Amino acid sequence: MPNLDDIFNAFRLPLTPARKKLITEAFEFAKQAHAGQKRKSGEDYIIHPIETAIIIAGIGMGSKTVSAGLLHDVPEDTTVTLKELEKKFGPEIATLVDGITKLGKIKLRGEKEENYLENLRKMFLAMAADIRVVIIKLADRLHNMRTLGALPLEKQERIARETMEIFAPIANRLGIGEIKGELEDLSFKHLDAENYALTQNLSRQKLKEGAKFVELAIAELRTELKQAGIDVKEIGGRAKHIYRLFRKLQTHDMDINRIYDLVAIRVIVPEVADCYETLGIVHKKYHPMVGRIKDYISLPKPNGYQSIHTTVFGPEGKIIEVQIRTQQMHIEAEFGIAAHWFYSERTKGGWKSLFQKKKKVPEKELRWVQQLREWQHEIGQDDDEFVRGLKIEFFKNHIFAFTPKGDIINLPEESSMIDFAYAIHSQVGDHATGAKADGKMVPLHTFVRNGQVIEILTSKDRKGPSQDWLTFSKTSAAKSHIRKFLKLDLPTDKK
Ligand code: MN
Repeated sequence: MPNLDDIFNAFRLPLTPARKKLITEAFEFAKQAHAGQKRKSGEDYIIHPIETAIIIAGIGMGSKTVSAGLLHDVPEDTTVTLKELEKKFGPEIATLVDGITKLGKIKLRGEKEENYLENLRKMFLAMAADIRVVIIKLADRLHNMRTLGALPLEKQERIARETMEIFAPIANRLGIGEIKGELEDLSFKHLDAENYALTQNLSRQKLKEGAKFVELAIAELRTELKQAGIDVKEIGGRAKHIYRLFRKLQTHDMDINRIYDLVAIRVIVPEVADCYETLGIVHKKYHPMVGRIKDYISLPKPNGYQSIHTTVFGPEGKIIEVQIRTQQMHIEAEFGIAAHWFYSERTKGGWKSLFQKKKKVPEKELRWVQQLREWQHEIGQDDDEFVRGLKIEFFKNHIFAFTPKGDIINLPEESSMIDFAYAIHSQVGDHATGAKADGKMVPLHTFVRNGQVIEILTSKDRKGPSQDWLTFSKTSAAKSHIRKFLKLDLPTDKK
């Protein structure tokens, strides 16, 4: 049975006496509250909050978040009330626990798409209150998925589907690759056992065949890099997650021999410059495959992922993918937004260099996670300041609305339906004739409200924007498109 020491061992920040005390108190409190309760599997209930806390600690979160993880099921499942919990641990931890209780009431019922969107919206808006709530919820779900077998089959399927459709995408949006991969694999196993087994067998067989080449390549690269004076922090092989492999196989006629990144060699080096130098050394040793070099360092993925990927002909011509990244990029790829807490303690300035890189990303590539990260850097490093700022500064001036398909559109305050239309596409803006907010027709000058689902009605007959749109457009994207369009239409004598 996992215990308090397992939480301490997983904890990545310095374990100060104050932190140790808080976690210990939360542990004792939860243990007492859940005393005598059993899980469906017959185990003591307390195992679940402990495992949840271990996951939270493992991705680098602080002691308050870990404690809230230990206490997350107390108000819902025991006789201890939120008030009592607040009296003992204060309003911050109580608010986190309350947020998780509320999120827990959201269930994906029925087949309807609108339910899914509704849940996604609630989940997302909960982030506006405190992103730590969502991180705890992801850890809670991950442990429930690991132990899903104890539930009735029907329930297993519902939870697995909910995890695949809601929780894994959110983990992905937050950039927490480690949790996302495991959530997807566990869901896949329950939703499509046959294909899971098939993919797993294909993967195992192929990995077994290729193991000696991968080991050889690692040894050869280690030597080459050392000779070149590169301070390699870590080098090793990593197999692709089962669900991601299955998805890729589907687009490659289920032919495992056409998958080049089944196992990737990951090289972790100190600085960005080392990454490019390493790339050169790898290519000198092994011929690269044409068109397979992806530089996500200068052009990060939409969720902020950074790394260089290259596919090479390794020992005996065997095709191997090599991924090169810095330690900071590595921690970010595994822990995503949670890496903030990690960095705030470890390497001051670590974020700064990352963000400066990201400034080069084209405007349209930026999504909200990146904006959030940039903003994190601006407001400073302190945990409390971060959280307070997260609520007040960032979200106060931003509106999050949704397209009917569930895509998130992020706008400044006092944006109108016209801003929303142009945020989707300039063609949508230019041909907008009306808007529906949460299913109701509204004038185009109406302000967009947080959490609304907005559908922009367009018509090909609409020639273009009208001048008065400028009076109620807020974003520069909308304004510049409108101006551009109007100028084109100006009669020649006004030039
Ligand atoms: Mn729970």
